[in-house]
Amino acid sequence: MNVMMLDKPDKVENKPLKYIVHKYPEIDQGQVIVKVLANGVCHSDLHIIEGDFQLPSEMFPIIPGHEIVGEIVESKSDLQVGERVGIGWFYSACGVCDQCISGHENLCPNALVTGINKYGGYSEFAALDAQYVTRIPDDLKDKDAAPLFCAGITALSAVKRIHPNINDRIAVFGVGGLAFYAIQFIEAMGAKAVAVTRSHGSVAEKAGASEIVDRPSGGYDGSIVFAPSRDTVQKAVASTKSGRTIVIPAVMDRIDFPFGDFMWEKNVTSVASGLRKEAREILRLASETGLKSMITERKLEEANNVLSDLKRGKIQGRAVLIP
Ligand SMILES: [Zn+2]
Ligand SMILES: [Zn+2]
Repeated sequence: MNVMMLDKPDKVENKPLKYIVHKYPEIDQGQVIVKVLANGVCHSDLHIIEGDFQLPSEMFPIIPGHEIVGEIVESKSDLQVGERVGIGWFYSACGVCDQCISGHENLCPNALVTGINKYGGYSEFAALDAQYVTRIPDDLKDKDAAPLFCAGITALSAVKRIHPNINDRIAVFGVGGLAFYAIQFIEAMGAKAVAVTRSHGSVAEKAGASEIVDRPSGGYDGSIVFAPSRDTVQKAVASTKSGRTIVIPAVMDRIDFPFGDFMWEKNVTSVASGLRKEAREILRLASETGLKSMITERKLEEANNVLSDLKRGKIQGRAVLIP
């Protein structure tokens, strides 16, 4: 089978992913093999590939990709051949620790990550754990469903942490693939999304944001920071009301902010991708409410170029690789 393999991290401009023939996976009891129908390209892939996560060398080679939608072609589980399923960042968890038992499998210390600890979706086929995949509703297209498994789940988790009330104004800093979903969730909950963006106003408009601004005016009832920089985090903390929440799904910079901007009981929290029940929730939402998607389809072997475009902010919405 054909895969995009990463032997060692390097800048995407140097095309570190190699399009090669790799051996077909073998599975154990409780696993399935899927034919990958679509795999979304996430910012985390860029961090993995360029070495920002500083993964130990023994973890390589890596086949990235953690927004997989595939059709089951072989099953050693209760799932049937022909069913369409998907998987996100969390490949599996231990199932027996305190976090797993209390329903926070995303915080399991023994969780395995798709596309790091296990071969991911930059591939024609993938072996997955039947307990951790989620079935895809028939009316969702492969390319629309794939990004829901990381971008969609992360956006939903972020919005839920804010608990938006009707007519609350929630600021969304940085408008890309995740914000495209977050804006829709905020508006669907009866609150107003304020998109803070200099260059992607059209994306925010398509997502249905109530307001689009190039700098924050303040007084927000919550903020989500999708643009991972220290400066943006500081702006978000300063412009969010006392007693409310600032969600930072992922940040690579060191962050800090003046205590004066933070002292009146503001909550700052991260989100760690999502849970299986959230995957089910978002797929149901997408199927029932017609969640909009903004997808650029590209071929698997173009992954290096796609990642390079993503790095330069040239992908609007989400890119999806089709093997
Ligand atoms: Zn991701
Ligand atoms: Zn666990």
